[in-house]
Amino acid sequence: MLTVRASEVGGCPRLLYHKLRGDELEEPEGAQRRVFQEGQDAEESILAWACEGLEVVSRQQEVSFDLDEFRVTGHMDALCRDNQGSLVVVEAKLMGKERFARAAEDNWPQQILDQVACYMYGASAQYALIAAQERNGEGRATKTLIAPAELQNILFDLSLLSAALEDANPDLIEWPLSEFGCQPCPARFHCYPRWRPWYAVGEEGALVAGKLHTLAVVAEAQAKLAAREAELKAELAAILDAHETDVLKPEGGGTVRWVESTRRTLNQKAIPQEIKDQLEPYYKESWSRHLRVFPPGQKGDDGEGDADGGQGGV
Ligand code: SF4
Repeated sequence: MLTVRASEVGGCPRLLYHKLRGDELEEPEGAQRRVFQEGQDAEESILAWACEGLEVVSRQQEVSFDLDEFRVTGHMDALCRDNQGSLVVVEAKLMGKERFARAAEDNWPQQILDQVACYMYGASAQYALIAAQERNGEGRATKTLIAPAELQNILFDLSLLSAALEDANPDLIEWPLSEFGCQPCPARFHCYPRWRPWYAVGEEGALVAGKLHTLAVVAEAQAKLAAREAELKAELAAILDAHETDVLKPEGGGTVRWVESTRRTLNQKAIPQEIKDQLEPYYKESWSRHLRVFPPGQKGDDGEGDADGGQGGV
């Protein structure tokens, strides 16, 4: 019998596949551990308001039940009884801004719905209450789950997982787009072997290090030149201003001119959601690939490339 955690059943089935096979996984990184710890720390305060008017029967009670050849286990944040005597599972979640905004619009992550559906089923509860609190904000949102329709989906997903495990072939599982993105996933190198860093050593390592060093020198020189260019332009602008003119022509040739232009762009944030949805089929998608280089010690030099597509680099 294969044991899976309720919190994992609605997550990426490929991740579950690799876990169940005992495949090598990456250790969670510092930021992920912090997020997990913050969630645990916030549990008490979320339950304090979520369980108002309910009698708390137990906290962190274990549930365990069998679904086909899987045993699903987990710990409910709280099991309560309402004033009608019905059993209620209460699950507390701390959410980042964007995730919370989606939950507040009743667009809850499937992984959470599946997790709570498992608890309801395992505890034979009449309904469940999911309570979300916004991290670094005031927001609160709740959702009541009456019938765990998700169980059908869970059973379907588990049957796919089971077939893939039997065949030892993760490709039998649909390649999902993880809600959290694949980059922080502990199984990412199984799905994206090209993301696994290759450590250059010996002669080749020295060669690469030399090129990185030269690139860093070039980048520094470019930054100095760009700063000097900005200074010179500011000095020329001051001369134009002093003569109250927009065009300056020195005797030796050349021109300095203010050029004005107007750009008209759509304010994406101001477009109502229903119009955004209507526009969706008209978006043209293009793909590009570019090389980012992070000399030693620069932001992004984590040995894993441009993980966040963000700042830094040459
Ligand atoms: S890398 Fe992505 S697809 Fe692969 S297991 Fe992780 S979340 Fe799933």
